[in-house]
Amino acid sequence: PVSGKHGPLVGAVDQGTSSTRFLVFSAGTGEVLTYHQEEVAQLYPQEGWVEQDSTELLKTVLTCIDKTVENLRSLEIDPADIKAVGITNQRETTIVWDKTTGQPLYNAIVWLDARTASTVEAILKVTPGQNKDYVKDLCGLPITTYFSALKLRWLLDNVKEVQEVAGRGNLLFGTVDTWLLWNLTGGLEGGLHVTDVTNASRTMLMNIKTLNWDANLCKFFNIPMAVLPEIRSSSEIYGYITKGPLLGVPISGVLGDQQAALVGQMCLSRGQAKNTYGTGCFLLYNTGTQIVQSEHGLLTTIAYKLGKNAETIYALEGSVAIAGAAVRWLRDNLNIIKTSADIEPLAMSVKDSGGVYFVPAFSGLFAPYWRTDARGTICGLTQGSTGAHLARAVLEAVCFQTREILDSMQKDSGIVLNKLQVDGGMTSNNTLLQLQADLAGVPVVRPSMTETTALGAAMAAGAAEGIGVWDLTKLKPLTTDDFTPAIMPEEREQRYERWCMAVKRCMDWEL
Ligand code: ADP
Repeated sequence: PVSGKHGPLVGAVDQGTSSTRFLVFSAGTGEVLTYHQEEVAQLYPQEGWVEQDSTELLKTVLTCIDKTVENLRSLEIDPADIKAVGITNQRETTIVWDKTTGQPLYNAIVWLDARTASTVEAILKVTPGQNKDYVKDLCGLPITTYFSALKLRWLLDNVKEVQEVAGRGNLLFGTVDTWLLWNLTGGLEGGLHVTDVTNASRTMLMNIKTLNWDANLCKFFNIPMAVLPEIRSSSEIYGYITKGPLLGVPISGVLGDQQAALVGQMCLSRGQAKNTYGTGCFLLYNTGTQIVQSEHGLLTTIAYKLGKNAETIYALEGSVAIAGAAVRWLRDNLNIIKTSADIEPLAMSVKDSGGVYFVPAFSGLFAPYWRTDARGTICGLTQGSTGAHLARAVLEAVCFQTREILDSMQKDSGIVLNKLQVDGGMTSNNTLLQLQADLAGVPVVRPSMTETTALGAAMAAGAAEGIGVWDLTKLKPLTTDDFTPAIMPEEREQRYERWCMAVKRCMDWEL
């Protein structure tokens, strides 16, 4: 291999809900030189439960790194040119392990998992006014099944081994970033127990003003503070890789996946926003240094803090639980498509959804409703309805849910976005993006480089103090493909009204 061929390189681990990737970027051009991807298994041990094997998550990361380094060698690029590695990850997913053995004590409880509905109910019972926004001022989030504190509470309440290890003072908690950092920087004894502000802001235990664990929140959820990792910025040298072909390379960027996409889409100014379509769908709107508390069901979260002494930037977030997961459901449960991409020709084979509306509230509804009692609902079926209509209704559901978020965002901030910057696995689907432009009435803009999540993590890692191979003040805008609204406003509003009727029908189902 020839060293220095593409200038300094930066690697990014992207540990998502559906797959793990490791990508190598040229820091000079932001171009992806090579990558490797592995699918990760989803486990559904009970109705509404979603788990992953934490050991497998780690293994896929190590395999992706190994294979990508092999790719580099076959491209005659010297892996020693990798000057830093960033990590971006599925957020909220909760892992507990024993610090003396490094062994996980339970499967990772995935963010989508709704087992904590009873935990939420028990907590709300003793909350003044049963108000789900009771701690929102402190953490920016409503009390729902989604966030890590509830999942950790469930583990402490229900898993004997977790209780025993906690009793011996050996319990460690982490989101996926923390678990990977602990393992990648560890010797036999395990490594760093740290997280970044963006991931910490999704646990419900961090105070979004002070960026520290909040004693009142920990008391409220009855979480022992000793199990929590140290909170750091999103861009600094945390430690060095202790195994595999990247031995000795610093890890210097950590961002939750949605925040990483915001950075990767270069939404680094107040008023910029992006929408990422993966398993779920997440719209983040940069509010600068200002904390904006939503009145319309959005979350307040940390967007990034790129350096120990850098400003903290906040975002409003609209989180939709089910987007690509509904496509996966058509594939795996109904078997009407073979691959996710097959949804596009199937949906295109009919001119509209034939009046079919599909609300994929598989695990309740997230923003703007935050209802754990909602369940999936299909409305408007007729004798003539086909799988193609359903496929189209699935794509439209993703677009209608995004419209709901845009409406909330507009009510909270008074701002109407003049374009919707999009990314994520689903956005290779042109039909989806045209539907989105039509149903939201806003131009949709997709970068031709779609790995914006990994790019954000690489940028944070490459720009860290002591690395300095990526200059965030000299960013080149990404080239894009644009989709323009092509239906009349009356039609848009009529269809949206129908959608709202379908949403009403999915509520109050789970008693
Ligand atoms: P995550 O980051 O949540 O793991 P990705 O961004 O990798 O997700 O996107 C994967 C999701 O996108 C899957 O749920 C898959 O069903 C969906 N998907 C992938 N390709 C398409 C496509 N062409 N049309 C619609 N959905 C797709």
